[in-house]
Amino acid sequence: MASSAVSYARENQQRFLGELKNFLRIPSISTLEEHKSDVQKAADFVASELRRIGMENVEIIPTKGHPLIYADWLHAAGKPTVLMYAHYDVQPPDPLDEWLSPPFEPTERNNNIYARGAVDDKGQLWMEVKALEALMKAGGGKLPLNVKVIIEGEEEVGGESIAEYVRKQKTKLKADFALVCDTELFAPDLPTLCVGLRGLVYTELEAVGPKTDLHSGMYGGAAPNPFFGLIEIISKLKDSKGKVLIPGFYKDVKAPTKDELKAWKRLPFKDEAFRKAEVGSSVLTGEKEYPTLYRLWARPTVEVHGMPGGFTAPGAKTVIPAKAAAKVSMRMVPNQDPDDILKKYTAYVKKLTPKGIETKIKVWSKGPACVVGTDNRYIKAATEALHDTFKKDTVFIRSGGSIPIVTDFQDFRMC
Ligand SMILES: [Zn+2]
Repeated sequence: MASSAVSYARENQQRFLGELKNFLRIPSISTLEEHKSDVQKAADFVASELRRIGMENVEIIPTKGHPLIYADWLHAAGKPTVLMYAHYDVQPPDPLDEWLSPPFEPTERNNNIYARGAVDDKGQLWMEVKALEALMKAGGGKLPLNVKVIIEGEEEVGGESIAEYVRKQKTKLKADFALVCDTELFAPDLPTLCVGLRGLVYTELEAVGPKTDLHSGMYGGAAPNPFFGLIEIISKLKDSKGKVLIPGFYKDVKAPTKDELKAWKRLPFKDEAFRKAEVGSSVLTGEKEYPTLYRLWARPTVEVHGMPGGFTAPGAKTVIPAKAAAKVSMRMVPNQDPDDILKKYTAYVKKLTPKGIETKIKVWSKGPACVVGTDNRYIKAATEALHDTFKKDTVFIRSGGSIPIVTDFQDFRMC
């Protein structure tokens, strides 16, 4: 059956590709209010395809944010149940002038598709849907195991609605294992399976100085400037060698296993190529005592993403702003507790806040890291399937990113 599903997929490859391109044309940017109807359109697009290929109980579930999609097919008596996950929302495409082709007009170059969401996560989502279609066709309308599908439209903005839904719908979503298609294949022709993700605490650090905006000609030299307050704090979060300076930050960090480290060394990864082609900087930064993949996948970090406030339009305005903010996040690794890290960060920020400035911390999202054991039957089945296709052994990798819902699937014993 698997082989006839594969030949069905090969025969229909051009159609699958065309559908994916139509999906990629929908600018489902979850963080921008003006794209709310596009996000809904993407949800409708996916749901109607799930219905068309023969999935049952297809629902578009409204939430406080963007809708969830549920579907199932549960007629494989005695067979395990998989919970398949993906997301149909994307990040904003700016800066637009960095794109060689328009972000929402999928373009093929060097055997790749370039479009916002092509690899995160619409490509993977479509792969899941098309795998279901091919298996359904090969099985004469039947699947070889029980399938539940849950798809969200808020992954890029913290995934609050799905987390709430998962907590409420434990029975409905109960499965033997979850298949999360939201990561990468490490290199072409190399079967890799991602078994670990970093966690994330994303905060907005707000600094307040004078009670209104002031003119620097009249008050500069006497009035506290919230930007300098933020700079004083941020400059002490991490040293020039990449070490995070929040007291106790590394205390609970669990190192990867020897086997993992050995496997990562086998991956086709070269610092120099990565620096040039992907990062595009003159050097790679960070803790030199750890190899690059180790730093990306298994070391925690602090980053600053933006500093809203003051005057940002072209030209000059000599304002000392009353308020400024910094979006600061921390990626976490296994065994670090997000609440504990947030507490340590909050106490440290308070200690660093200079006189005349008041700081407040808003938490945008918070979720721990996660690593799955590789010795269970589902991972085994996946590596066997990968071997059939690639004729090579799977390398277990991690991802430096975070998919909030993965820990919810684990916490609530969905699987
Ligand atoms: Zn994603």
